[in-house]
Amino acid sequence: MMRLDKYLAVMGYGTRNEIKKLIKAKEVTVAGVQKVTPEMKIDENTAEVYVSGERIVYSQYVYLMLNKPQGYLSATRSADANVMDLISEPYRDMFPCGRLDKDTEGLLLITNDGPLAHQLLSPKHHVDKEYYVELKNPYSQSDMEALAKGITIDGDEECLPAELIPEDEKTCRLIIQEGKFHEIKRMFEALGNEVVYLKRLRMKNLVLDPDLEPGEYRYLSEEEIADLKQPA
Ligand code: URA
Repeated sequence: MMRLDKYLAVMGYGTRNEIKKLIKAKEVTVAGVQKVTPEMKIDENTAEVYVSGERIVYSQYVYLMLNKPQGYLSATRSADANVMDLISEPYRDMFPCGRLDKDTEGLLLITNDGPLAHQLLSPKHHVDKEYYVELKNPYSQSDMEALAKGITIDGDEECLPAELIPEDEKTCRLIIQEGKFHEIKRMFEALGNEVVYLKRLRMKNLVLDPDLEPGEYRYLSEEEIADLKQPA
Protein backbone atom coordinates (compact mmCIF):
# COMPACT_ATOMS: atom_id res chain seq x y z
CA MET A 1 0.00 0.00 0.00
CA MET A 2 1.19 3.47 -0.79
CA ARG A 3 -0.08 7.03 -0.61
CA LEU A 4 -1.50 8.22 -3.92
CA ASP A 5 0.78 11.29 -4.07
CA LYS A 6 3.86 9.16 -3.44
CA TYR A 7 2.71 6.67 -6.07
CA LEU A 8 2.30 9.43 -8.64
CA ALA A 9 5.68 10.93 -7.73
CA VAL A 10 7.30 7.53 -8.17
CA MET A 11 5.63 7.26 -11.56
CA GLY A 12 7.09 10.60 -12.56
CA TYR A 13 4.09 12.94 -12.36
CA GLY A 14 6.04 15.74 -10.69
CA THR A 15 6.65 17.05 -7.21
CA ARG A 16 4.23 16.51 -4.33
CA ASN A 17 2.92 20.03 -4.91
CA GLU A 18 2.40 19.56 -8.62
CA ILE A 19 0.61 16.30 -7.90
CA LYS A 20 -1.60 18.01 -5.33
CA LYS A 21 -2.63 20.48 -8.01
CA LEU A 22 -3.31 17.68 -10.51
CA ILE A 23 -5.58 15.99 -7.99
CA LYS A 24 -7.31 19.26 -7.10
CA ALA A 25 -7.91 19.87 -10.79
CA LYS A 26 -9.66 16.46 -10.89
CA GLU A 27 -7.14 15.13 -13.40
CA VAL A 28 -6.55 12.02 -11.29
CA THR A 29 -9.13 9.30 -10.86
CA VAL A 30 -9.01 5.97 -9.10
CA ALA A 31 -11.50 3.34 -10.26
CA GLY A 32 -14.17 2.68 -7.69
CA VAL A 33 -13.29 5.70 -5.56
CA GLN A 34 -15.48 8.80 -5.33
CA LYS A 35 -13.20 11.15 -3.47
CA VAL A 36 -9.57 11.14 -4.56
CA THR A 37 -7.08 12.75 -2.17
CA PRO A 38 -3.26 12.97 -2.14
CA GLU A 39 -3.01 11.01 1.10
CA MET A 40 -5.38 8.17 0.25
CA LYS A 41 -3.75 4.75 0.34
CA ILE A 42 -3.83 2.59 -2.74
CA ASP A 43 -2.50 -0.84 -3.57
CA GLU A 44 0.13 0.06 -6.14
CA ASN A 45 -0.11 -3.32 -7.85
CA THR A 46 -3.85 -3.43 -8.41
CA ALA A 47 -5.26 0.11 -8.22
CA GLU A 48 -6.60 1.46 -11.49
CA VAL A 49 -5.23 4.97 -11.49
CA TYR A 50 -5.81 7.36 -14.37
CA VAL A 51 -4.15 10.72 -15.02
CA SER A 52 -5.90 12.95 -17.54
CA GLY A 53 -7.83 9.91 -18.72
CA GLU A 54 -4.78 7.70 -19.20
CA ARG A 55 -4.29 4.53 -17.21
CA ILE A 56 -1.02 4.33 -15.32
CA VAL A 57 0.79 1.04 -15.42
CA TYR A 58 2.78 0.57 -12.26
CA SER A 59 6.30 -0.62 -12.78
CA GLN A 60 7.97 -2.85 -10.26
CA TYR A 61 11.34 -1.27 -10.96
CA VAL A 62 12.64 2.16 -10.10
CA TYR A 63 15.46 3.91 -11.93
CA LEU A 64 17.15 7.00 -10.55
CA MET A 65 20.00 9.03 -11.94
CA LEU A 66 22.18 10.39 -9.14
CA ASN A 67 24.92 12.95 -9.51
CA LYS A 68 27.16 11.42 -6.88
CA PRO A 69 29.00 13.97 -4.80
CA GLN A 70 32.48 13.41 -3.38
CA GLY A 71 32.67 11.91 0.09
CA TYR A 72 30.07 9.17 -0.38
CA LEU A 73 30.69 5.46 -0.78
CA SER A 74 28.95 3.51 -3.56
CA ALA A 75 27.36 1.06 -1.18
CA THR A 76 24.01 0.32 0.41
CA ARG A 77 25.33 -0.21 3.91
CA SER A 78 28.44 1.27 5.43
CA ALA A 79 29.74 2.96 8.56
CA ASP A 80 30.62 6.02 6.46
CA ALA A 81 28.14 8.04 4.42
CA ASN A 82 26.96 6.12 1.38
CA VAL A 83 25.04 7.14 -1.71
CA MET A 84 21.78 5.63 -0.47
CA ASP A 85 21.75 8.29 2.30
CA LEU A 86 21.02 10.77 -0.50
CA ILE A 87 17.94 8.91 -1.74
CA SER A 88 14.63 9.60 -0.07
CA GLU A 89 12.40 7.29 -2.11
CA PRO A 90 10.13 4.68 -0.55
CA TYR A 91 11.80 1.65 -2.10
CA ARG A 92 14.14 -0.21 0.19
CA ASP A 93 15.69 -2.67 -2.22
CA MET A 94 17.53 -0.22 -4.45
CA PHE A 95 21.28 -0.27 -4.90
CA PRO A 96 23.90 1.66 -6.86
CA CYS A 97 24.60 0.05 -10.23
CA GLY A 98 28.38 -0.04 -10.17
CA ARG A 99 30.95 1.72 -8.06
CA LEU A 100 32.53 5.10 -8.10
CA ASP A 101 35.39 5.88 -5.72
CA LYS A 102 34.60 7.94 -2.65
CA ASP A 103 36.21 11.02 -4.22
CA THR A 104 34.69 10.47 -7.70
CA GLU A 105 31.62 12.44 -8.76
CA GLY A 106 28.99 11.98 -11.39
CA LEU A 107 26.56 9.57 -12.92
CA LEU A 108 25.39 6.71 -10.78
CA LEU A 109 22.31 4.70 -11.66
CA ILE A 110 20.32 3.70 -8.58
CA THR A 111 17.82 0.93 -9.23
CA ASN A 112 16.21 -2.24 -7.96
CA ASP A 113 16.39 -3.86 -11.40
CA GLY A 114 18.90 -6.64 -10.79
CA PRO A 115 18.82 -8.12 -14.31
CA LEU A 116 19.52 -4.74 -15.91
CA ALA A 117 22.32 -3.99 -13.43
CA HIS A 118 23.86 -7.36 -14.25
CA GLN A 119 23.71 -6.59 -17.97
CA LEU A 120 25.34 -3.19 -17.49
CA LEU A 121 28.05 -4.40 -15.14
CA SER A 122 28.96 -7.76 -16.60
CA PRO A 123 32.56 -7.51 -17.89
CA LYS A 124 31.68 -9.46 -21.01
CA HIS A 125 29.27 -6.80 -22.22
CA HIS A 126 31.91 -4.04 -22.56
CA VAL A 127 29.51 -1.25 -21.69
CA ASP A 128 30.97 2.23 -22.33
CA LYS A 129 31.70 4.41 -19.32
CA GLU A 130 32.74 7.95 -20.11
CA TYR A 131 34.57 10.13 -17.59
CA TYR A 132 35.79 13.68 -17.37
CA VAL A 133 39.35 13.60 -16.06
CA GLU A 134 41.59 16.32 -14.64
CA LEU A 135 45.26 15.43 -14.41
CA LYS A 136 48.18 16.79 -12.43
CA ASN A 137 50.43 16.90 -15.51
CA PRO A 138 49.74 17.21 -19.24
CA TYR A 139 49.12 13.95 -21.08
CA SER A 140 50.96 13.16 -24.32
CA GLN A 141 50.20 11.73 -27.72
CA SER A 142 52.01 8.57 -26.72
CA ASP A 143 49.76 8.28 -23.62
CA MET A 144 46.75 8.41 -25.94
CA GLU A 145 48.21 5.72 -28.14
CA ALA A 146 49.11 3.52 -25.17
CA LEU A 147 45.57 3.85 -23.77
CA ALA A 148 44.07 3.08 -27.17
CA LYS A 149 46.08 -0.13 -27.35
CA GLY A 150 45.27 -1.15 -23.80
CA ILE A 151 47.77 -0.57 -21.06
CA THR A 152 49.08 -2.81 -18.32
CA ILE A 153 48.58 -1.58 -14.79
CA ASP A 154 50.37 -2.72 -11.65
CA GLY A 155 52.73 -4.87 -13.64
CA ASP A 156 50.36 -7.53 -14.87
CA GLU A 157 46.75 -6.33 -15.19
CA GLU A 158 45.80 -5.80 -18.81
CA CYS A 159 43.23 -3.07 -19.49
CA LEU A 160 40.91 -3.06 -22.45
CA PRO A 161 41.54 -0.28 -24.98
CA ALA A 162 40.42 3.13 -23.72
CA GLU A 163 39.66 6.18 -25.81
CA LEU A 164 41.10 9.52 -24.69
CA ILE A 165 39.27 12.55 -26.07
CA PRO A 166 41.40 15.67 -25.51
CA GLU A 167 39.88 18.77 -23.95
CA ASP A 168 42.81 20.75 -22.59
CA GLU A 169 46.42 19.87 -21.95
CA LYS A 170 45.57 18.48 -18.51
CA THR A 171 41.90 17.67 -19.00
CA CYS A 172 40.27 15.05 -21.15
CA ARG A 173 37.44 12.61 -21.46
CA LEU A 174 38.19 8.95 -21.20
CA ILE A 175 35.93 6.13 -22.37
CA ILE A 176 36.55 2.75 -20.75
CA GLN A 177 34.62 -0.48 -21.15
CA GLU A 178 35.28 -2.22 -17.88
CA GLY A 179 35.38 -1.29 -14.22
CA LYS A 180 38.49 -2.50 -12.51
CA PHE A 181 39.15 -1.14 -9.03
CA HIS A 182 40.48 2.46 -9.31
CA GLU A 183 40.94 1.75 -12.99
CA ILE A 184 41.38 5.25 -14.37
CA LYS A 185 43.57 6.41 -11.51
CA ARG A 186 45.78 3.37 -11.96
CA MET A 187 45.91 3.84 -15.74
CA PHE A 188 47.28 7.35 -15.38
CA GLU A 189 49.56 6.26 -12.57
CA ALA A 190 51.04 3.69 -14.94
CA LEU A 191 51.68 6.59 -17.34
CA GLY A 192 53.50 8.57 -14.62
CA ASN A 193 50.62 10.98 -14.12
CA GLU A 194 47.96 11.50 -11.46
CA VAL A 195 44.19 12.00 -11.56
CA VAL A 196 43.20 15.00 -9.45
CA TYR A 197 39.46 15.05 -10.29
CA LEU A 198 37.21 12.44 -11.80
CA LYS A 199 33.57 12.62 -12.82
CA ARG A 200 31.50 10.04 -14.67
CA LEU A 201 29.45 11.56 -17.48
CA ARG A 202 27.90 8.56 -19.20
CA MET A 203 27.16 4.88 -18.86
CA LYS A 204 26.16 3.11 -22.09
CA ASN A 205 23.70 5.66 -23.56
CA LEU A 206 22.67 7.21 -20.26
CA VAL A 207 24.10 10.72 -19.98
CA LEU A 208 24.39 12.62 -16.71
CA ASP A 209 21.77 15.38 -16.64
CA PRO A 210 23.72 18.68 -16.47
CA ASP A 211 20.90 20.18 -14.37
CA LEU A 212 21.63 17.81 -11.49
CA GLU A 213 23.90 19.33 -8.84
CA PRO A 214 26.13 16.92 -6.91
CA GLY A 215 23.88 15.11 -4.44
CA GLU A 216 20.74 15.58 -6.57
CA TYR A 217 18.90 12.85 -8.41
CA ARG A 218 15.92 12.40 -10.67
CA TYR A 219 13.85 9.61 -12.17
CA LEU A 220 14.91 8.29 -15.55
CA SER A 221 12.50 9.00 -18.38
CA GLU A 222 10.73 6.12 -20.14
CA GLU A 223 12.99 6.74 -23.11
CA GLU A 224 16.17 6.60 -21.04
CA ILE A 225 15.04 3.31 -19.50
CA ALA A 226 14.19 1.82 -22.89
CA ASP A 227 17.58 2.93 -24.29
CA LEU A 228 19.46 1.41 -21.37
CA LYS A 229 17.69 -1.88 -21.87
CA GLN A 230 18.58 -2.14 -25.55
CA PRO A 231 21.04 -4.88 -26.36
CA ALA A 232 24.55 -3.48 -26.80
N1 URA B 1 38.17 4.78 -12.25
C1 URA B 1 38.65 5.20 -11.06
O1 URA B 1 39.85 5.23 -10.83
N2 URA B 1 37.78 5.60 -10.14
C2 URA B 1 36.44 5.63 -10.33
O2 URA B 1 35.69 6.03 -9.44
C3 URA B 1 35.96 5.18 -11.57
C4 URA B 1 36.84 4.75 -12.52
